[in-house]
Amino acid sequence: MTPVSLVASRPDLETVRTGALGCTACGLAERRSNVVFGEGAPDSPLVLVGEGPGEEEDKTGRPFVGRAGKLLDRALAECGLDRTKVYICNTVKCRACDWSTGRPVNRPPTDSETLACRQWLVPQLAAIGPEVVLCVGAPSAKNLIKRDFKITVERGRYFPCEFARTAIATLHPAYILRNAGASSDGGFSLLVADIAKAWEAATRLREGRTSSVESGEGSPGLQPALEL
Ligand code: SF4
Repeated sequence: MTPVSLVASRPDLETVRTGALGCTACGLAERRSNVVFGEGAPDSPLVLVGEGPGEEEDKTGRPFVGRAGKLLDRALAECGLDRTKVYICNTVKCRACDWSTGRPVNRPPTDSETLACRQWLVPQLAAIGPEVVLCVGAPSAKNLIKRDFKITVERGRYFPCEFARTAIATLHPAYILRNAGASSDGGFSLLVADIAKAWEAATRLREGRTSSVESGEGSPGLQPALEL
């Protein structure tokens, strides 16, 4: 259970969700079917943050439910996890599409769309209060860790993060699907390893925080990420 002293000043997650569902702060609101806010355990020590919703996510209003999402579910299962134990969301809550051909084609969100949507991501993460943020894919890592993040070199390492006690980045399951072949798992084993590492750190940090509060020591300060 999350210590009361740690939630006193947190935003309410449902209030943030309600606000996001009616948001028209950027152009992505015009053609979306659903705002994909996020789902999972609202008090989880681990939050997975992807880039933005695709077609299936836009249709259903749920994050990571297409082919990439199914691969993510498999990776979570290999770590003994599922969507009831972690929280999953994206940096941008509405689907970004190029409509120049008359048909919607997924495109990366622009910097201004990403910036506009921080008004929801920031209070969402503050409401959950995770110990660890796992950035799923390079765009999320560039958004939440550092602009020049190099996913193939720096994935799986701990970094300071303003939204949690540490952040780790991993490969996006869509990237893994594109790269998997007869002689390679495309990086699936790395995704599993990174999730396992992030969960282990998240639970250890949460247990330390809880036992510290229960023993009357109060909330421990932020530890340097590399001490994990
Ligand atoms: S992407 Fe974010 S900022 Fe833009 S309309 Fe959707 S919820 Fe609002």
